Amino acid sequence: MFRKILIANRGEIAVRIIRACREMGIRAAAVYSDVDRASEHVLLADEAYAIGPAPSTESYLRIDKLIEVARRAQAEALHPGYGFLAENPALPRACRESGIVFIGPSAEAMELMGSKTAAREVAARAGAPVVPGAKEALGSLAEAGERAAALGYPVLLKAVAGGGGKGMRRVETPAELAAAFRDARSEAENAFGDASLYLEKYLERPRHVEIQILGDLHGHLIHLGERECSLQRRHQKLVEESPSPVMTAELRAAMGEAAVRIARAGGYTNAGTIEFLVKRSEGAPLGCEFFFLEVNARLQVEHPVTELVTGLDLVKEQIRLAAGEPLAYRQEDIQWRGHALECRVYAEDAENNFFPCPGRITRLERPAGPGVRVDGYVYEGWNVPLEYDPLLAKLICWGNDRAEALARLRRALDEYLIGGIQTNLPFFRRLLDRAEFVRGELDTELIERMLDEKPAAAPSRIFGTPVVDAAAVAAALTEVTAATNGLRLAAPVSRWKQAAREAALRRLGSGPRR
Ligand code: ADP
Repeated sequence: MFRKILIANRGEIAVRIIRACREMGIRAAAVYSDVDRASEHVLLADEAYAIGPAPSTESYLRIDKLIEVARRAQAEALHPGYGFLAENPALPRACRESGIVFIGPSAEAMELMGSKTAAREVAARAGAPVVPGAKEALGSLAEAGERAAALGYPVLLKAVAGGGGKGMRRVETPAELAAAFRDARSEAENAFGDASLYLEKYLERPRHVEIQILGDLHGHLIHLGERECSLQRRHQKLVEESPSPVMTAELRAAMGEAAVRIARAGGYTNAGTIEFLVKRSEGAPLGCEFFFLEVNARLQVEHPVTELVTGLDLVKEQIRLAAGEPLAYRQEDIQWRGHALECRVYAEDAENNFFPCPGRITRLERPAGPGVRVDGYVYEGWNVPLEYDPLLAKLICWGNDRAEALARLRRALDEYLIGGIQTNLPFFRRLLDRAEFVRGELDTELIERMLDEKPAAAPSRIFGTPVVDAAAVAAALTEVTAATNGLRLAAPVSRWKQAAREAALRRLGSGPRR
């Protein structure tokens, strides 16, 4: 086993990986940019190395610096986390050339799966159903027009090098195609340095269901079941859960087998995710149809929900597999127990179009208690930098069934208090009260529909007398009090609770926000 691992990342995922290293008796070496000097991942690591200024292009995205630090620290292996360089095959290649083990798939498998069109071909060859669409990148707008007409509108233009929902445009009619083509190309060029696009049939209101896989270096591959990630905003996941409310043992077996076949066809090893879109279909033998979407060649943000229902530690598994250990489980050893749900907590103002809100955290109350896990990296006094992804933490709750997991999530959201900056915690409270969400009737457009809804207009006069909306006034007062205390409340609270919180803040000497 390795003695030391370099973690080429920051934030919550760096903390997550350090925790796995600590439990395995492996030294964890961190890297940090100038603004991350006092980040929790640096404080928790056994050793830490400065790699440059705040912009990630000068620090976390510099392969040369990371390799140089790994050498200097004498780390035998490097964990990329997710984001930054995690899916750039140049990193595993540079590691290999320097005799450092990359904790992830080979550069070749990553390269193959990183191209969405190539991955679609691999999936089709493996006999998996693929979202109907083009096999190759589009050569021109005219070709896009022909392909779209053949597929039938609506269609989705997607970036071949895509990720994070970038370079994607839904096109409803032929008249919209030219503008969408131009916009998607320039967005893809800016985001990935590669403007190439391809076309897929746009599936209306699908579910996003993905399968976690694990593969060792000796040809064994298994799957750990699914995560439902349909709750998205702008094609980015916000809430994930396992099991999926649509899942049956038969559908899981079918999707799991398809995922393993795709991974095998792509020469995939270590941890990875095969994403699918799922549609209910009365006529289908399993009650649902599923279509391959893409492969994520890395650990995913939402991996904890799988950990909670399978009892496995995915980061430890990744490390063992990278060290060459054979998989310790056969497919039949994997058991799923209970239900897990995750919310991604961002420094974003959900009331203001999810605008990023970095800044200093003046107060932090993390939820705890039965079935609650928080994977985060922020602390009171930490200044959330504006240079990076505004993810602060992931709140993950487990219950014996979905109803208990949901009740715990609701309870945990009520306990969660992040002061000084705006977060999307209030948004989750609203989402959790949605009837469709409670019933598990999820689709990838649910959040967008919810955000599009205008609040119902209340009557302003009854029989000529002005109506004062007491609830609105109370809510406004609570917000104002909270704002002056530098607090953003996770949920509307009663007056006496608010008074108690204010008294507690006064005792702690937290002054008003400046
Ligand atoms: P990215 O790699 O940018 O995240 P994905 O291919 O994984 O892109 O798709 C992200 C999300 O976009 C999906 O979860 C789904 O909500 C939506 N999406 C992608 N392809 C389609 C499609 N053909 N039809 C409907 N929705 C789609």
